[in-house]
Amino acid sequence: MSTTENAIASAEAHSAHNYHPLPVVVATADGAWMTDVEGRRYLDMLAGYSALNFGHGNRRLIDAARAQLERVTLTSRAFHHDRFADFCTRLAELCGMEMVLPMNTGAEAVETAVKTARKWGYRVKGVPDGMAKIIVAADNFHGRTTTVISFSTDPEARADFGPYTPGFEIVPYGDLTAMRAAMTENTVAVLIEPIQGEAGVLVPPPGYLAGVRDLTRERDVLFIADEIQSGLGRTGKTFACEHEGVVPDMYLLGKALGGGVVPVSAVVSSAAVLGVYRPGEHGSTFGGNPLACAVALEVIAMLNTGEYQQRAAELGDHLHHELGLLTGGGSVQAVRGRGLWAGVDIEPELGTGREISEKLMERRVLVKDTHGSTIRIAPPLVIGKEDLDWGLEQLREVLRG
Ligand SMILES: *Cc1c(COP(=O)(O)O)cnc(C)c1O
Repeated sequence: MSTTENAIASAEAHSAHNYHPLPVVVATADGAWMTDVEGRRYLDMLAGYSALNFGHGNRRLIDAARAQLERVTLTSRAFHHDRFADFCTRLAELCGMEMVLPMNTGAEAVETAVKTARKWGYRVKGVPDGMAKIIVAADNFHGRTTTVISFSTDPEARADFGPYTPGFEIVPYGDLTAMRAAMTENTVAVLIEPIQGEAGVLVPPPGYLAGVRDLTRERDVLFIADEIQSGLGRTGKTFACEHEGVVPDMYLLGKALGGGVVPVSAVVSSAAVLGVYRPGEHGSTFGGNPLACAVALEVIAMLNTGEYQQRAAELGDHLHHELGLLTGGGSVQAVRGRGLWAGVDIEPELGTGREISEKLMERRVLVKDTHGSTIRIAPPLVIGKEDLDWGLEQLREVLRG
């Protein structure tokens, strides 16, 4: 057996099969490129589902992490540490908000948002105890905890994991009329992705986000934007909501916030909303730890230059132009997305998304399928234009058959 086959066989023997990875075993990575255990190089066109927006081994981020590793890595929130205030202040500034509640993973940020919205509903809005409702969209992806999968519509994500947490209303994504109809006095929040990533990079109809903003404001309901995948530069702006000039009541951030180095997530909102917490009511041992804050501070500084957003916008225009040329030619049905982020629906007779991904892997390009015959393209924002073009050429070759 090859080194690759060995590594895969032993992973399969000793790890739960909750993933179906492509058969590549990565050993090192740099920028947009990964090298496997046999020395083969692959172009990373997934970027850890946007956790690697700044690329692998980004110098600034690795240096920030290394410097912090030598100072202090963990204090717990039982004590203050000297990176915490800066992190919260800078992140709130980046978001145009007032307060931050740091967690680690995206799912924890979503859980925190659910708890915050409920508490805000009871303490501030005056919803009767136990009655709070949160409106979510069909085909959402917000993480994997029992509460979060309770409002998933994906049978794979939900089946056999009940009983489910109540208190959620599911409406079709992009449908303002349905959202309005689902709203009652007990609605405390609307939780949506401004672009649905896992669903296939679905961009809502124009005016949707602005409509959600108007409706939630009118009904005294919190607008929670899950920007865990769409945020921090991916779409060509810091937040995907900006494409409609919309500012929600709460941003949920994760993935790229940790710079591909450590898990860092956060709920960012106003003092009126996050101010509902009292000591002991919520927390996390690792949330807001010094290492996480040091890395995230560097991420925020990098985003403050605007360079990465601009790069995503420019390369994204190029990506969408090139992908657009493929549609209607018998191999690609549709392309969606914004910035350096695309969902590509391949003609089903050319193969499933998985099969296309495997063929791309043979050509040394790594992408990930979503449902059916859709693949998603989301390279690190630092990818070179020539590398992006080379990756697209491999896609054209695969589609040519
Ligand atoms: C990835 C993701 C999450 C969950 O993040 P984890 O860090 O995997 O828990 C939540 N929401 C969206 C939109 C995501 O893309």
